[in-house]
Amino acid sequence: MTTRRLFLGALPVAALTLSACSTTRTAKEVIDSVGLPPRPATPNDAIKALADGNARFATNAPQVRNTADIELLWTSGIDQKQEPFASVLGCADSRLAPEIIFDQFVGDIFVVREAGNIAVSPTNLGSLEYGQAVLKSKVLVVLGHSDCGAVNAAYTNAEPGGNIQSIVDAIKPVIAGATSLEDAITRNVRAVKDRIRKDSAMLREAEQSNDFAIVGAYYDITTAVVRFL
Ligand SMILES: [Zn+2]
Repeated sequence: MTTRRLFLGALPVAALTLSACSTTRTAKEVIDSVGLPPRPATPNDAIKALADGNARFATNAPQVRNTADIELLWTSGIDQKQEPFASVLGCADSRLAPEIIFDQFVGDIFVVREAGNIAVSPTNLGSLEYGQAVLKSKVLVVLGHSDCGAVNAAYTNAEPGGNIQSIVDAIKPVIAGATSLEDAITRNVRAVKDRIRKDSAMLREAEQSNDFAIVGAYYDITTAVVRFL
């Protein structure tokens, strides 16, 4: 963990250095060096692209895409439309930034975040439906994580009050019987997957077409590793 933090801390300096060296690169040279954005043909390919990205992040080897490269890629198509290959429903926890932990670029992941990654409201479900129906993402990852405060509040029967209570109340019933916080977090992820299938005909039917999948995952913030459930 210490090593990874040191590495990330050094990134801005490295990026500045590379940026200064690459101002004359063409868009083709940039694409040749960093690769085209992932365009997985199947849900399994999309999951593999995310898993590969997390492996890069967790082993201190993320893709380097500096400012000049980003500008070139931006004007080579991403300024005209977005084509994210995956959607992520993640907790709002500040340590869970999906683009970073999956080592993806702007435009690659359609992200909806809410404490406890619960997707109870029609607006959140609507955002997820947009990611699949309009943007054609191949997979929706319901992403829980270790040390989740929202799930822990439900697991310990906390009563935070205010509107925070509605988050705790949404989680409590689906983690009944959990034997540990990690067990509660994975139970919540599985329950949210089931809730999405139940409450969104659009996503349920998309999954039945086999051109889209809803999967769960657990991010361990101490190891930086995402485990697909
Ligand atoms: Zn959380």
